[in-house]
Amino acid sequence: MRIPMIAGNWKMNTTATEAERLVLEMLERLDRIEGVEKVLCPPFVSLVAISMMLQNSSIQLGAQNMYFEAKGAYTGEISPLMLSELCEFVILGHSERRWYFGETDEIVNKKVGAALTNKLKPILCVGERLEENEAGKTDEVVNRQVRAGLKDIEPVREFVIAYEPVWAIGTGKAASGKQAAVTIEFIRDVVGKLWNRSTAQDLRILYGGSVTSANIVEFLSRPEIDGALVGGASLKAEEFVGIVEKTAEIKKRAK
Ligand code: PEP
Repeated sequence: MRIPMIAGNWKMNTTATEAERLVLEMLERLDRIEGVEKVLCPPFVSLVAISMMLQNSSIQLGAQNMYFEAKGAYTGEISPLMLSELCEFVILGHSERRWYFGETDEIVNKKVGAALTNKLKPILCVGERLEENEAGKTDEVVNRQVRAGLKDIEPVREFVIAYEPVWAIGTGKAASGKQAAVTIEFIRDVVGKLWNRSTAQDLRILYGGSVTSANIVEFLSRPEIDGALVGGASLKAEEFVGIVEKTAEIKKRAK
């Protein structure tokens, strides 16, 4: 049985003060929820403060990106070694990194390897753009992104993939539960062929794209979907806690 996971990607939002306030608003309620892995991914500048706030809690911390080298003359970059003292998770290959910052499949693959070397658990994001979806190329795109992201990577169970159709991110137009489940099943199959079936069965594969407390049930009631990567709704304490509470209820009932 895979433990469901809800991760909040705050993106480039919240000053350090706002970030601490947001954590304070949700900490107690979030901490009490059992049966769901809860992960917050604030901006880099808040990681130290929030890692201290989350000590002795059941909430884990993730970063939104990293460079693939451990240290050196890479002005402005943050390394996996630095993150390894603060975080358990790191989001890699988010579509905003791919499309605004030119991250290629090769770069994402190097980051995946570097994260694992430094004991960080990657949350690898894959997903097709609108025109690719409309051209019926969803499977082709996610197949390429998953295979490239995992190239030369040994099978590892502590690995998370987030299927995030680009057209659903921040648009308010979520995929349907069925669409998401079908592609997630396809991704599990790709991983099974690339690694092995047993590891693929253990991987958490999340859906991401305009998830809210109003539509989370549609996704999480499907056994293929192990949780969600939540952007906009993770910036509102009530919404995010609501998403996690509903996830706990649904997955408990499904046991
Ligand atoms: C994301 O940034 O990963 C995301 C899914 O954003 P949103 O929930 O706002 O669509």
